[in-house]
Amino acid sequence: MPARLIDGRAAAAALRAEVAARAARLPCRPGLAVVLVGEDPASAVYVRNKDRAASAAGIAARTLRLPAATDEAALLRVIGGLNDDPSVDGILVQLPLPPHIRSRAVIEAIDPAKDVDGFHPLNVGRLHDGTATLVPCTPRGVMRLLATAGVALRGARALVLGRSAIVGRPVAALLTSADATVTVAHSRTRDLAAECRRAEVLVAAVGRAEMVRGDWIAPGATVIDVGINRLADGRLAGDVAFAEAAAIAGAITPVPGGVGPMTIACLLENTLIAAEARRR
Ligand code: NAP
Repeated sequence: MPARLIDGRAAAAALRAEVAARAARLPCRPGLAVVLVGEDPASAVYVRNKDRAASAAGIAARTLRLPAATDEAALLRVIGGLNDDPSVDGILVQLPLPPHIRSRAVIEAIDPAKDVDGFHPLNVGRLHDGTATLVPCTPRGVMRLLATAGVALRGARALVLGRSAIVGRPVAALLTSADATVTVAHSRTRDLAAECRRAEVLVAAVGRAEMVRGDWIAPGATVIDVGINRLADGRLAGDVAFAEAAAIAGAITPVPGGVGPMTIACLLENTLIAAEARRR
């Protein structure tokens, strides 16, 4: 039987509507500041989409566009100003930064209470002890999709394929907090296919088009495909061979239209959470 499709566009629209309703109950609009250094075209498109989604959800978004030659000290001064600005609830610095700027120094300069990407070490620590409120956006989106699909995580065998700081590790921490039994696989894992086949919940975040084949998947498993890969013919593909996987999985996210749309919706949710906490 073909797998049930987990619709990220519908889940993201529902989340954006929920954020808009909660934002409307606050005495003033939550504020999100996005800092973009340089002219990376992909980042510029992403930032434009964020601005549009934010204003539709009742969040006042502003983008600070700084020239590529901006030095680290100047960027840190901008961050300091946003930290002190009471109208700003969330700060997001678009990555990657130009190579002459240390991303780590910039992330650590953001007020952890305004760190809507959830990358500040304090928030990373809280994520791993299960007390975080500002959780990285894509991992938050993965958990939301699992919840909307009604996947029972308690005691489930979960495999996270990938151990990056922005996807794999935080997803593993969140699944652990949700009482799943979690394995993290990576490029040094022996017999990846066998590890995948044991999983009832499989989250793929490797960045390799269609690496996970249908016969790596346990019958009935839930498959969340975080990968976004551009094929030679211009099409987008996930990390999972979708048609093969859909023939055997119980539920699966498509690419595009799965995890991707959740990321901006979860950024808006984080901005709202930061705003609610600051008004308490
Ligand atoms: P990343 O930093 O490159 O990490 C990739 C991970 O996959 C690493 O842990 C790496 O292992 C592992 N890996 C690579 N090749 C492997 C192989 N052949 N076998 C087993 N493991 C392998 O990537 P990322 O930032 O986590 O992103 C992963 C994917 O998600 C990308 O396609 C990206 O575009 C996508 N993504 C989507 C969204 C979204 O939907 N909004 C957001 C973020 C990322 P090692 O640690 O051993 O090197």
